[in-house]
Amino acid sequence: MASFRTHLAVASVVSISAAAICVEAGLLGQSDALILFVLGSLAGILPDVDSDHSIATRLVFKLLGGAVAVLLMYVFVDRLHIALLLALALGSALLVRYIVYPVFASITVHRGLFHSLPAALLLALCMVSLALYVLQWPLQLAWLSAGFVCGGYLVHLLLDEFYSVDFMGRSLKTSFGSALTVFSFSSWASYSAMYLAVVAGLYVLPLPAIASRYWVF
Ligand SMILES: [Zn+2]
Repeated sequence: MASFRTHLAVASVVSISAAAICVEAGLLGQSDALILFVLGSLAGILPDVDSDHSIATRLVFKLLGGAVAVLLMYVFVDRLHIALLLALALGSALLVRYIVYPVFASITVHRGLFHSLPAALLLALCMVSLALYVLQWPLQLAWLSAGFVCGGYLVHLLLDEFYSVDFMGRSLKTSFGSALTVFSFSSWASYSAMYLAVVAGLYVLPLPAIASRYWVF
């Protein structure tokens, strides 16, 4: 397994290269390219959120706790007294840290569903939804952001597989094949549900013009 720093460094190099190509091709402006570079780099550490005490997990749940607190304050700012508002924000952040995080850690297995191809595809579709319906980004930028997120995520999985090869002994470690899982018969129901969700997402979400030309739906 590659280290946190290696994952972040490789995902950053791949993302900045992809961003530079997109700018050169006229697909992205410089400020959008910077945002997508950050997204791709962060996606490169995201799969290890299934490792209970990894840096990625702690970082993700800190960000999630902060995001929930800010969102609640934004929603209730005109309806609650400032003291109640602060209590709500603090309570939600503590809930994420001391309830959601332990529950998530207890139900996830390292190199389980999060280290799989359908997880990367689902995350990409979540990114499209977030970009389109929350951030109100244009369609092409939303799908490009999904491409960067999916790309960064897949770079992580490929790197994990790469580190499962013992090049000196020219053999495969037992972890080989557990990072970029396409399908697992022992978890067939979960994998089937994830692929169904991907197909449903592609059916529901508006596609960029170039994909609409070829997509059968
Ligand atoms: Zn990993």
